[in-house]
Amino acid sequence: MARYTGAVCRLCRREGQKLYLKGERCYTDKCSIGRRAYAPGQHGQGRKKVSEYGLQLRAKQATRRYYGVLESQFRHYYDLASKREGKVGEQLLVVLETRLDNVVYRLGFANSRPEARQLVVHNHFSVNGKKVNIPSYLVKPGEVISINEKSRQSEKIKSILEANASRPTPKWLDVNRESLEGKVISYPTREDIDLPVEETLIVELYSKL
Ligand code: SF4
Repeated sequence: MARYTGAVCRLCRREGQKLYLKGERCYTDKCSIGRRAYAPGQHGQGRKKVSEYGLQLRAKQATRRYYGVLESQFRHYYDLASKREGKVGEQLLVVLETRLDNVVYRLGFANSRPEARQLVVHNHFSVNGKKVNIPSYLVKPGEVISINEKSRQSEKIKSILEANASRPTPKWLDVNRESLEGKVISYPTREDIDLPVEETLIVELYSKL
């Protein structure tokens, strides 16, 4: 499937917020959002007035880019969320949050979501003891995500674990840094998801389409 391969910091500048796509760099003063806090491109500093549609579009794009999901897949998640009980916007975030690549990142087994995606594709993880290399796999409560035996010897994995040893884990997940496993305790609630986007704007946008 095609992926965005351009400069990822441009995406954050376009959305006007940190999307944490570059791992450690995102937490330093090298972050482009701090240094150039305006949209990229020739007219980046000139655009001020945003229409209602513009706000809805930005909310959708920011969420999509935060989780690294293409438009067609995002729409699929929206349809999936529409069939679940509860508010559609919240359910959409729950679906996105339970993607395996996001869970790997949340457990501190990767520095960023793009890196988590790559590690999953490269066969570094198992779910309930079975190798899974599909980043879009949706985890369920009770499932255990572990780093594969061979991958535990990798210097890259070791350095990731060291760098993220003190990163807080959301309360819907439980991580064991000794056995290098993480368990899904429950589905996340909206309060557990630290995405600064009004998901109702996404619902408003899709309900018009
Ligand atoms: Fe976004 Fe990270 Fe780049 Fe900052 S360093 S602009 S948070 S990807």
